[in-house]
Amino acid sequence: MSDILSVPVRPSKILCVGRNYAEHAAELGHDVPAEPLIFMKPPSSLIGSGEAIVLPAISERVDFEGELAVVIGRRCRHVAEADAMGVIGGYTILNDITARDLQKKDGQWARAKGFDTFAPCGPRLVTDLDPTDLEIKTLVNGELRQHGRTSQFIFSIPRVIAFISRAMTLEEGDVISTGTPSGVGPLKPGDTVEVWVESIGSLINPVRAEA
Ligand code: MG
Repeated sequence: MSDILSVPVRPSKILCVGRNYAEHAAELGHDVPAEPLIFMKPPSSLIGSGEAIVLPAISERVDFEGELAVVIGRRCRHVAEADAMGVIGGYTILNDITARDLQKKDGQWARAKGFDTFAPCGPRLVTDLDPTDLEIKTLVNGELRQHGRTSQFIFSIPRVIAFISRAMTLEEGDVISTGTPSGVGPLKPGDTVEVWVESIGSLINPVRAEA
């Protein structure tokens, strides 16, 4: 069982943006959405850098998705886009691990995105950062698999915060993961997956099969 204290955030909820890079939407056969597509992962899915991603026996395909994550700095609701940067407490990295077969099978994404260990997060929180054009890479066993820049977002961070906070109160420590570039692919036992974001560092996790 993971120690949640190894994660640099203690969110009441983890919100994620789906299909926020055009090339990733295309690789999964989807159109670019007209509005942000939001889903959630449970806080019980969090693990820190260095902890193992556990591949569930009931899934045939579990994918990595390297993402920049925004951490909310204060309780807020109905945040205007122009004020959104003011509610951000910092930035970290999240790997939005996804049981791709179960995502398709279920229609709803809660199970496919919500297994224990499916939200590696960290290694640290960076407060002084301009998030608008950061390089992001995902490597599996040292091999480059995803490479993008946050300037390629379909929906900007302020747009996403305004959109979500129209619906729900955001609490200090809540995490918003901003979506993944193209190049997602499956993990297998024995792999090591690294998500690197410019000015933040590397989130590194080994992968193992469920015991
Ligand atoms: Mg994602």
